[in-house]
Amino acid sequence: MAGIIIRMIEILSSAQLARARATGALVGDILATLRRRSSAGTNLLELDAWASDMIRDAGAVSCYVDYAPSFGRGPFGRHLCTGVNDAVLHGLPHDLELVDGDLVTLDLAVSLDGVAADAAISFVVGGAGAPEDLAMIEATERALAAGIAAARPGARIGDLSHAIGTVLTAAGYSVNTEFGGHGIGSTMHQDPHVANIARPGRGYRLRPGLMLALEPWVMADTDALVTDADGWTLRSATGCRAAHIEHTIAITGEGAEIMTLPSAVAL
Ligand code: MG
Repeated sequence: MAGIIIRMIEILSSAQLARARATGALVGDILATLRRRSSAGTNLLELDAWASDMIRDAGAVSCYVDYAPSFGRGPFGRHLCTGVNDAVLHGLPHDLELVDGDLVTLDLAVSLDGVAADAAISFVVGGAGAPEDLAMIEATERALAAGIAAARPGARIGDLSHAIGTVLTAAGYSVNTEFGGHGIGSTMHQDPHVANIARPGRGYRLRPGLMLALEPWVMADTDALVTDADGWTLRSATGCRAAHIEHTIAITGEGAEIMTLPSAVAL
């Protein structure tokens, strides 16, 4: 989930990072499982219920259920953000069945043993996606990879933002700066904010033990959002489709470690 930041920059201990790996693998596994189960006829409320079951079975806690920031009609009350086609951020699960060709974004954050992790995936339901949808997802994935590649001790937040924004703009997308990535650790949303475009060489200097959720997202032909009648779901202002990819990373001695990859064992 993208959003509001509390004023705190947390450097995690090695013990906390070990727990963060378990939290991150759980998030990655749940998202991979939900993607595998998503097909024509799958209801967004089913996806939310499956996420709830997997979070509970792992002994983890949803970061979303009680989430009530100033911009939402909180509390969120669901375990998973589900965005379909023009819905890109904070999508509130509702009674909607997926159809082949839908561009789906699932965003999940949980806390396990006191450490949070946050990730998002975008994919097309069914066998074949529209080429422009697949290209948008691929560009967003490349932007995330560029941001991760720029993350190392001594680099500044602006360097990551610049790396992400350079890929997105080169691919032809205009970048919204209202919502972006964030620090994460004992809570889901912390400082520093990580915009998806900025000048390099500025901002907080990265240190080992800092965890960040990097989350490039774009809309096909606009950078303007509108809020759905549900008070949460953010959609493209033009009705165009959108994509959102997110990983939680930890700054290491040399670079960055991706915490939210699925483990070898699928749920
Ligand atoms: Mg996030």
